[in-house]
Amino acid sequence: MDEIEAFLTGRIWLRDHTPFQKEDIDTRINDGRIRTIPGITGRQCARCREKDPRLIAEFACSRCGKNCFYCRHCLNMGRVSSCTELITWANPSSSGGHLHSFVWNGTLTAAQQKASDELLASFHKKEDHLIYAVCGAGKTELLFPPIFDALATGKRVCLAAPRTDVVLELAPRLKAAFPDTVIHALYGGAPKEAGFAQLILATTHQLYRFEDAFDVMIVDEADAFPYTADKTLQRAVQKAKKQGAPVAYVTATPSRKLLRSIKNQSHIFRRYHGHPLPEPVYRPLWNYRKAFRKGRVPPKLKSWVEDNAARGRPFLLFLPTVELIDETIPYFQAIHPGIRAVHAEDPDRKENVLKLRRGEIPGLVTSTILERGITIRNVQVAVVGADEAIFTPSALIQIAGRVGRAADCPAGDVVLFHNGISRRMDEVRHLIRSYNKGGAPS
Ligand SMILES: [Zn+2]
Ligand SMILES: [Zn+2]
Repeated sequence: MDEIEAFLTGRIWLRDHTPFQKEDIDTRINDGRIRTIPGITGRQCARCREKDPRLIAEFACSRCGKNCFYCRHCLNMGRVSSCTELITWANPSSSGGHLHSFVWNGTLTAAQQKASDELLASFHKKEDHLIYAVCGAGKTELLFPPIFDALATGKRVCLAAPRTDVVLELAPRLKAAFPDTVIHALYGGAPKEAGFAQLILATTHQLYRFEDAFDVMIVDEADAFPYTADKTLQRAVQKAKKQGAPVAYVTATPSRKLLRSIKNQSHIFRRYHGHPLPEPVYRPLWNYRKAFRKGRVPPKLKSWVEDNAARGRPFLLFLPTVELIDETIPYFQAIHPGIRAVHAEDPDRKENVLKLRRGEIPGLVTSTILERGITIRNVQVAVVGADEAIFTPSALIQIAGRVGRAADCPAGDVVLFHNGISRRMDEVRHLIRSYNKGGAPS
């Protein structure tokens, strides 16, 4: 397999924006090895399949000198317009035959093993499967045996997650478990990788660039924003996999729709270390915005921060808006100069999370961006304004799920500072209590 074939197999890519020489692409188009596809057909984007007329816009095109349509929906991956072409490898050869190995010294709990076996059985039957498992149940490890089975039988596997943080967290673990497998991690701004990857780890957004590519598709954190909010991303999952290929959904907070629509399900309501999930504690913080506006951190919140900093317990403090983070970070730094703010567009985000993990800084003030995929030993969490709409039940479950993941530190604070207890907060506490009793929520 040459490097162009390796790259274009299962991919749908803008002809003018490949990492290869134009002549090499043209030769392969002329001899039929590469197939071309018009960018927009019948006012539908061929890459992301968008056809909403508000998103397929007409413009005076300088490229062809005519009026063209272009897709606004996937514009940030390079413009797809009526006069551009997408390319894909015309007749993908079988990628099997490569030897894979599986290196993992852990053991699965009985519950993990059962779910892992059930998932494998669904893959063999080519049926969809839902893994409904609480935060800290060890979801990733139970995926290893079914992934290895698929790789060893020559299948191409995709593990998709809605967020870059989750992809970054998973990549080294998968590379360690499957050391002989070519694995690519794809997300916005990821470094370029070469060769044919039989295992792809990608943000759901990157799936727009694949078509009929995967024999097995796993969608991790299937409930996370933006996946649930964006129908086109769900469409991307369907488009990226081969027809009839099974999809596994893995989540701690499945939607009713997922619970109803998937026949094969495995449920794990216990953490791998056997300790219960920490239950949220409510603490009123009346008029906290007013206090912040006066340049003060409310006393109850201040003493929570001081206490954790003094005892060397790393903490995550979640605020409802980015503006509030920017406004208040100086006040938190007045309590301890090492405290850092972290939000979505922050270039230092990875670095600050690492510093917290290494114990170099006491805590982070953050937005819901850090709710998932972050595992820090002995971390304590608090939410300010837990009653605000941004803190959905699944966000609160994920935030609470950061705490007590390590077997030697199975407990910790989950403090919900509020301006009045919301139904969502009660819903979450009820859910966590019912998990701890070992039952499905009622
Ligand atoms: Zn598009
Ligand atoms: Zn044009």
